[in-house]
Amino acid sequence: MPPIKGEEWKHVTIVEEKAEHPKVKCTYCSKEFVGGATRKCAHFIGSGGMLAHVSRCHEVPECVVETLCQQVGQKQEVAIKRQKTSDLDVATRDPITMSETLACIMC
Ligand SMILES: [Zn+2]
Repeated sequence: MPPIKGEEWKHVTIVEEKAEHPKVKCTYCSKEFVGGATRKCAHFIGSGGMLAHVSRCHEVPECVVETLCQQVGQKQEVAIKRQKTSDLDVATRDPITMSETLACIMC
């Protein structure tokens, strides 16, 4: 089953196809790295455990970071629901997600 390509794929160019994850190049800083969605998001957002493997991008536009944060946030919400933990956390995050969407459309 092919992996579902998320928002992060819009900001990288595939350099070389590989068995598991293709080697990609960042559109903004031209850094090349191999990794899945988590690692690409780590490069743009600069968060998560994957930062040990890939450095943060310093050229990516803020609106792209916000869009990716939103995507990651949604994934995290799914994980939270599966774990049947804090509904409060999801409720408090929604307004932030809305404002991020508006901010990205604006730029
Ligand atoms: Zn970059």
